[in-house]
Amino acid sequence: MPVLPANLARRMATRNRDYYETLGVARNASEAEIKKAFRARARELHPDVNPDAEAEARFKEVAEAYEVLSNPETRQAYDRYGHEGLRGRPGPDFGDFGSFQDLFDAFFGGDVFGRRGPRRAPGDDILVAVEVSFVESALGAGREVRLEVVDACEVCAGSGATPGGRVERCVQCGGQGQVRTVSRGPFGQFLRTEVCPSCGGEGQIVIDRCEACGGRGRRVEGKAHEVRIPAGIAHGQRIRLTGRGHAGDRGAPPGDLYVEVRVAPDARFERDGLDVVSRLPITVTDAMLGTEVTVPTVEEEQRIEVRPGTQSGEQIVLRGKGFPVLHGRGRGDQRVIVDVRIPRVTSEEGRAAVTDLAERHLDEKSYREDEGFFDRLRHAFR
Ligand SMILES: [Zn+2]
Ligand SMILES: [Zn+2]
Repeated sequence: MPVLPANLARRMATRNRDYYETLGVARNASEAEIKKAFRARARELHPDVNPDAEAEARFKEVAEAYEVLSNPETRQAYDRYGHEGLRGRPGPDFGDFGSFQDLFDAFFGGDVFGRRGPRRAPGDDILVAVEVSFVESALGAGREVRLEVVDACEVCAGSGATPGGRVERCVQCGGQGQVRTVSRGPFGQFLRTEVCPSCGGEGQIVIDRCEACGGRGRRVEGKAHEVRIPAGIAHGQRIRLTGRGHAGDRGAPPGDLYVEVRVAPDARFERDGLDVVSRLPITVTDAMLGTEVTVPTVEEEQRIEVRPGTQSGEQIVLRGKGFPVLHGRGRGDQRVIVDVRIPRVTSEEGRAAVTDLAERHLDEKSYREDEGFFDRLRHAFR
């Protein structure tokens, strides 16, 4: 089977459809009616409003029908001989257009929905990172964030002209910011609307340029922002400062500033959800006899009691000493996990003493069986 060039295959696929039917107009429709019908059909098929995958193919059919019927010469040939009458003429080649949007722009100059004037781009977002300590992530902190930001020039208030300086209407586009170019193709005229090359779409040309920004109306400035890091924030979370990003084109909104929080590790603590987890190493004798110790919390140090007979892996819970709920109520706990250190006994006398303890003072009742090792471990890492 011979392989057709893509363009030809596409034309053949649409060749059998009646152009008047495709546009939905009568055979005696006026030029204005044809144009109106085309715009209406094209709007329905625009990707902004029509997510249908077929929309692009249908738009090309509609565009082809319009190309033929909008040109009196090709329309006449079509009326007389149908598709046969157009044989030998090159079909409209949509292959030059990068995207569906480009194709639309070629027909409507980007104003298919009545948009006019240059499209002003909003400013870009900025992402900066700040590092806080573990304790600061639990209690909150303030940080000064310094960044280079594109901002409206303060000297000219973004106009690009010196105060009171001359600004003239662009001659090439007459202040519209757009120029239309008409090119005649085999299927009628192509109307393109483009951003005016003289004024870059501004519609005006600054004669007395602001010296501070060189007439661009924007310049890069070093800025500092005070950022409140809320209590309870976790590593990797971002704080958004609306409108603190780069300035947009004149009249367009600025971007946002995102501050990504990195929490530095702390040898004393780990985070587990809203809880702070810490480890408490104690001697085997302290575990046997009980003791009082001081443990660090994210606030101040706290005295806690270690009961006699405390097992390794047991948890001592300090209520409300964990992380606060971010932008909410309530607080997690601190879980202190006991780690009983078993000593090595090296001297003969020491060995004799421990043996004496084991044989004369400890029996089965000395050991609790209330909770096994694995149960405790499960509680430690929930
Ligand atoms: Zn300026
Ligand atoms: Zn212009």
